[in-house]
Amino acid sequence: MNYKQQLEVIQGLFIPPDTAMRLDCPFCNGKNTLSVDTMNNNIKWHCFHASCSAKGKYQGEKDMDYVNATFKKKEESPDIEFKIPDSFKILDSNSKAKKYIHKNNCWEAWSWGRADIKYDVKQDRVVFLIRDNEDPTTFVGAVGRALNSITYPKWYMYGNKDVPFKCGLPEHKEAIIVEDCASACAVSNILTGVAILGTSLKESHKQYLKQYDKIYVGLDRDATKKSYDIANELKSYGLQNVHVKPLSDDLKYFNTKEIKEMFNGGENEKR
Ligand SMILES: [Zn+2]
Repeated sequence: MNYKQQLEVIQGLFIPPDTAMRLDCPFCNGKNTLSVDTMNNNIKWHCFHASCSAKGKYQGEKDMDYVNATFKKKEESPDIEFKIPDSFKILDSNSKAKKYIHKNNCWEAWSWGRADIKYDVKQDRVVFLIRDNEDPTTFVGAVGRALNSITYPKWYMYGNKDVPFKCGLPEHKEAIIVEDCASACAVSNILTGVAILGTSLKESHKQYLKQYDKIYVGLDRDATKKSYDIANELKSYGLQNVHVKPLSDDLKYFNTKEIKEMFNGGENEKR
């Protein structure tokens, strides 16, 4: 069999990309003697049977899948340093931004320094700075909420996209997974809010949540199935005290007193 015929046979095996495996040789019928390697979009094959001539290499095209797989990894490296953009101004510089944090129960978290909130004059967004999970004195990114209806997307992520926005106090033993940064701020006097921003749970979220004794999942009313999925994911990660919190409305529409009743209500009744 010439090279071209061999290649056709090997391609006919439909071995998935980035796989190295041993299998029975279709050329000499040798048991487990054929090695096939599809790393880096190449196909390399070689039979270990001395009398078998199966051996070849096919250089695959470097298509977009290959380019993405190779370069995306570098791009997503969490080590990129985040520098706070010059367009981030103090919150007081914009009345719409101040109004937003008042209306969405973030004012208290901001004024007590639990949340770092600024105004991005360039994108017209109220921005919530994200602190590093291990070193809370370092900012690794930010999340910006559009303050007008024409800015897209509504929520924009600056810098590192893997570290969650969280807001709370060091002594908190309970945390709640919420939809957005404003909800995380709204609950932060009672328990720590961790915003997932419409994404799925990432490794860094789970790592961060490990320190809490009790974890609630409190997404929007219409995300109930997602809440249960997330709770199950956390349980299979090894966190046992996980509860879905049924909500009558988004947490950002409740003030601290109401949040307190919602989470400690049962306890207070007993006293
Ligand atoms: Zn062979």
